[in-house]
Amino acid sequence: MMAKDREARQIEDAVMSVMSDRGTTRAARQPFGALGRRDFLSLVGAGAAGLLARRLFGAEGEAKGRKPNILVIISDDQGYADVGFQGCKDIPTPSIDSLAANGVRFTSGYVSCPVCSPTRAGVNTGRYQQRFGHELNPGPAPGAEVGLPLTEATLADLMKKAGYATGMVGKWHLGMEPKFHPLQRGFGEYYGFLGGAHPYLDLRPDGRNPILRATTPVDEKEYLTDAFTREAVAFIERHKAEPFFLYLTFNAVHAPLQATPKYLDRFKDIRDEQRQTYAAMLSAMDDGIGAVLKKLREAGIEENTLVFFFSDNGGAPGNASRNGPLRATKGTVYEGGIRVPSVIQWKGSLPAGKAFDHPVISLDVLPTAVAAAGGALPADRAIDGVNLLPYLKGEKEGPPHDALFWRFGQQSAIRKGNWKLAKIRDQAPELYDLAADIGEKTDLSAQKPEVVKDLSDAWAKWNAELKDPLWGGRQRAARPLRRQGRGAQP
Ligand code: CA
Repeated sequence: MMAKDREARQIEDAVMSVMSDRGTTRAARQPFGALGRRDFLSLVGAGAAGLLARRLFGAEGEAKGRKPNILVIISDDQGYADVGFQGCKDIPTPSIDSLAANGVRFTSGYVSCPVCSPTRAGVNTGRYQQRFGHELNPGPAPGAEVGLPLTEATLADLMKKAGYATGMVGKWHLGMEPKFHPLQRGFGEYYGFLGGAHPYLDLRPDGRNPILRATTPVDEKEYLTDAFTREAVAFIERHKAEPFFLYLTFNAVHAPLQATPKYLDRFKDIRDEQRQTYAAMLSAMDDGIGAVLKKLREAGIEENTLVFFFSDNGGAPGNASRNGPLRATKGTVYEGGIRVPSVIQWKGSLPAGKAFDHPVISLDVLPTAVAAAGGALPADRAIDGVNLLPYLKGEKEGPPHDALFWRFGQQSAIRKGNWKLAKIRDQAPELYDLAADIGEKTDLSAQKPEVVKDLSDAWAKWNAELKDPLWGGRQRAARPLRRQGRGAQP
């Protein structure tokens, strides 16, 4: 071995060893070898280790180890019971199930709104979206000022600042005007559509909600779910040598119900035509997630990628989804609207095959991802999400949140421990013990007035920090928990 090569090898061994000691990489632990720590530090001083680390881990690599990639996958209007790891029998979802087998599933995984756009506003900011008026869906023909307020810093902004390549594939639904475009909100690349829903077949490049590559309409010929898979895989191929953040938002399984024979043929035994098509759409998305995970594996970066998967809200009334034991659907603050299939995977860093039972919420994605990336949260505003990593690793005990809150037009809710208080329009408030009654069937508000008071007071305190909805027409006049019902309580 040439002296120069031997020196490089020694440096490499030393770098790997220090990283292993710090637990910041899953690279095989290697002995310090012939190189002493003092020698190593002198080489670091000379910059040799930095050069080597960059060679080993890409341009953004540091001696502490390469930053993990962040992959956030969101499905649309998927039912709580429509995934294998939650008992779905008629639609196999092996790829989504693999995330649960290799990661942690959240049995009380919530989203911050029972409809699409506000949930996405929360995911992308880590903040209750009502703090900045993004409480309601924009509607099919949003005005020029309707979109994620430009005062908000997005997850993509933060990841970009942390040195990541950022990209998005899929449904945006956070504004259609140029100023709200993903490329203006921290993403370096974009392929998808800006509106809230889209056909999957016979796509038209000339409509008002076309498929875009960056800002240019494209004539996409593939089944849309397959096209999103293709683009996500290509993004990973382009950026596999550097830390990346990919936000992959399938519009499956949102209406319209459309699928190709390739997927429909898998479900000839399902008699209900709507359910059959829904099954085909879900199966296509599961294939897509499988292709993305396979790509990570083949690129050798699976263990260096933190993956989130969840639905943006509960199963919808019109798409043949099923919410299992949960009450009601998308559009309500009952569990069927806000409790969703939810899982996190970070092979080698987080436990495998575990369930996490404390309530968590989609707002947690941002601080968890930023912590994994070694980035910084904005210091000038409240971040409501919590970094879940210490809880999932067992370094912190107890629930990450004291309580979770919802306000969606004229519906309000709070979950604290196993208690859930919900109020729908001017109906009396309802109290449920979710530990005993996940289906919210037995209203305990009359038996437990002290719990009702505690929860309604906590909700009122939270509500006092919120803004009025920036848009939303008739739904706008909502101040439910405090204002109406029997007396002052929700
Ligand atoms: Ca949705």
